[in-house]
Amino acid sequence: MERWCETCDRPVQGEVCEVCGEPVPEPTHEPVPWRWRLFIVATVIYLGYRIYQLIHWLAH
Ligand SMILES: [Zn+2]
Repeated sequence: MERWCETCDRPVQGEVCEVCGEPVPEPTHEPVPWRWRLFIVATVIYLGYRIYQLIHWLAH
């Protein structure tokens, strides 16, 4: 994975930018994909609905 200089907005080969001399941090990992987040949200909603059903069933 390529490093990226935030100051110059360009890819950097080493640990320090050749243009501005700023140290470039380690490349960060990809953010959580939206599909995965959507799956988690769907699971939470489904489980909440199931718990609601269970409580409703137990109340009777
Ligand atoms: Zn730079």
